[in-house]
Amino acid sequence: MSFVPGAPTQVGPVLFRAACPDCRARFELSAGALRLAIGGSRRTTFYSFTCPECGTAVRKPAGERIVELLTGGGVRTLRLHTTA
Ligand SMILES: [Zn+2]
Repeated sequence: MSFVPGAPTQVGPVLFRAACPDCRARFELSAGALRLAIGGSRRTTFYSFTCPECGTAVRKPAGERIVELLTGGGVRTLRLHTTA
C-alpha cells in the first residue's frame, strides 16, 4: 500500500516529426533540437531546426496548432516583440 502524491508522469522525451525540404529526409526531433520564434504576425512566427541528415538549417512557418504543440512539448520559445 503506497501513495504516489502527484508525481509528474513524464513518459519519455517528446519527439516531433519533421522533414527536411532540402534532402527530403524524415526524422524525429526532441524538444531540445527545435526552436520556436513567436512574432507579432504569422510571417514572423516560425520554428527552426537543423537537419540531422544534411545539416541544413530549416525554418518553417508555425501555425497556432504547431505553436501549441511545440510549447507544450517544452521547445525553447523566443518571443519576438514587435512595435507594429
Ligand atoms: Zn536535410
